[in-house]
Amino acid sequence: MSFFEVIDPVFATYVLGNAPVKRLATGFDWVEGPVWFGDAGCLLFSDIPNNRIVRYTPGEGVTTYRQPSNYANGHTRDRQGRLISCEHGTRRVTRREWDGTVTVIADRYQGKRLNSPNDVVVAADGGIWFTDPHYGIMSDYEGYRAEQELPCNVYRVDPDGTLEAVITDMNCPNGLAFSPDESLLYVADTGRMFSADPRHIRVHPMRDGRPGEGRLFHAIEPGCADGFRVDTDGNLWSSAADGVHCIAPDGHLMGKILVPELVSNVCFGGRAKQQLFITATTSLYGLTLNRSGVQRP
Ligand code: MG
Repeated sequence: MSFFEVIDPVFATYVLGNAPVKRLATGFDWVEGPVWFGDAGCLLFSDIPNNRIVRYTPGEGVTTYRQPSNYANGHTRDRQGRLISCEHGTRRVTRREWDGTVTVIADRYQGKRLNSPNDVVVAADGGIWFTDPHYGIMSDYEGYRAEQELPCNVYRVDPDGTLEAVITDMNCPNGLAFSPDESLLYVADTGRMFSADPRHIRVHPMRDGRPGEGRLFHAIEPGCADGFRVDTDGNLWSSAADGVHCIAPDGHLMGKILVPELVSNVCFGGRAKQQLFITATTSLYGLTLNRSGVQRP
């Protein structure tokens, strides 16, 4: 069997024919939010319904990193390497300081509670960008069912703490990432829960540090772009229902990594940033690519 489906012949050079897609750990309920710690040689990711963050160390396996996790979902690291987390349960974005204390980055906008921050990235200027769909408050599965107080926006937190809604016309923004030079912002709209909303990735040109008007970039089929990361040439590696799809900067599908479970998120890691870690329903998968991911810091 092949682990890959080549659609554009160039994709055959992105993968290694003898590098398997391996299931690294399993037994979770719904995993998301992988983030690589090269300094600690480990990956953290969320097992959301079990209210915990799991640590995977290659060669050693998994341990519980934090429980309860406030139903944390997406994670990233800021420019100082600190862990930034989106928490459904507390409806906030937090930063874990070097001494272990927790700083709240954002929990309200214009006096109203955020919905359930989902995914987060940090730009070169230290701005923290996150999506705030309603998925974590629509049921008691991935957080606590609650009334929605705000539309589902994309926010930016300035290093001075100012919170600004920067994209306000999506149904449910979810995954997001910058192009390698940060001239473009990609954001997925995965639609309101229990709806037939369209699901697609939008691209926004960045102007003076803010997103300009967006346009349709790519619609994942089958599935949706819950999460994605970018390689050094600007290809998007996105979740899909049948695995991970690689999408070129011009928006065409290059090829697929086939994964036997529904994929949620991905991230690059490892010594050469060529390991792609894939969170997929009950399991963590990984493989070595012939591409390097953009990793900040
Ligand atoms: Mg997500």
